[in-house]
Amino acid sequence: MCAVDTSGDPSRDAALVVVGSANRDVTVEVRRRPGPGETVFGGDTRTGTGGKGANVAVAAARLGATVAMVGSVGKDVAGDELLASLREAGVGTGLMRRGERPSGAAYITVTPDGENSIIVSPGANAALGAEDVHAAREMLAGADVLCTVLEVPLEAVRAAVCVAVASGVRVVLNASPVVTLDAATMAAADPLIVNTHEARWLLGRQDDAAVDPAGSARELREAGPRSVVVTCGARGAVVADGSGEITWVRAEPVTVVDTTGAGDAFSGALAARLAAGAELVVAAEHAARVAAISVTVRGTQDSYPTSADVP
Ligand code: ADP
Repeated sequence: MCAVDTSGDPSRDAALVVVGSANRDVTVEVRRRPGPGETVFGGDTRTGTGGKGANVAVAAARLGATVAMVGSVGKDVAGDELLASLREAGVGTGLMRRGERPSGAAYITVTPDGENSIIVSPGANAALGAEDVHAAREMLAGADVLCTVLEVPLEAVRAAVCVAVASGVRVVLNASPVVTLDAATMAAADPLIVNTHEARWLLGRQDDAAVDPAGSARELREAGPRSVVVTCGARGAVVADGSGEITWVRAEPVTVVDTTGAGDAFSGALAARLAAGAELVVAAEHAARVAAISVTVRGTQDSYPTSADVP
């Protein structure tokens, strides 16, 4: 049995609808990772709210967009916390599903070199289905932008894209974590957002050679999406717009503290600006400013700025 979360607002008039995941992040710092059969001591546990879908929704809502999320959490304490944090950021949760499976979680270990290893337990996220998206059909059809990420079943993503396309709603597709996508989903993306690793994977490159972001953006766009954004960390991002024109969006030079969730901040900010009517390149410039701020602060959602913080 599952139910929708009826305690939130009705979420009927969101300009931006996010279809994606919500996870509880459990992070511990370790000097080194344990080998098989080994136990090591770590630092104090930090817990927080995450999941790519929730990150995108929170980033956009902090910037002032009216946002609602379609996703799935468990009927557990983590589910209560995930929904509460979305609402606190101003995200509509009226169409979030609550099922029997436990809420999704990400178990993160961080070593002194800043490298992290993550185990994701999808839990309730894996139960998000086309029927949950159809329950949100009215809201989705009335939105300006759908932003979807791939930490939930493709069936749900496809259903959301179908409703959006049929209703003339712009589709922002953050193809992370990257998987093979069908031609119709790719063709709807405006833009498809990928980082350089994901671009390499989608283009079928096996080698470790450095990716040319501009060339990748052009090639990916020729493969179907209406437009493409390839993000490339401290270098910024490359936009291939609807006419195929390539524009480099430079990243602000900043002192980096923690890059976790930078891509989600970028996607949320870009989707928020598109929903407000901005051109793609203008929206990407804004997204780069927002993502640059997010890397100067530790944490994921905690590091996302409000519109007052963005120059
Ligand atoms: P992901 O987090 O998905 O791996 P990226 O690392 O490409 O994606 O980062 C996404 C965006 O965040 C970049 O396009 C850039 O705008 C911003 N960003 C990331 N790292 C930095 C950095 N060191 N300095 C400034 N901006 C950054």
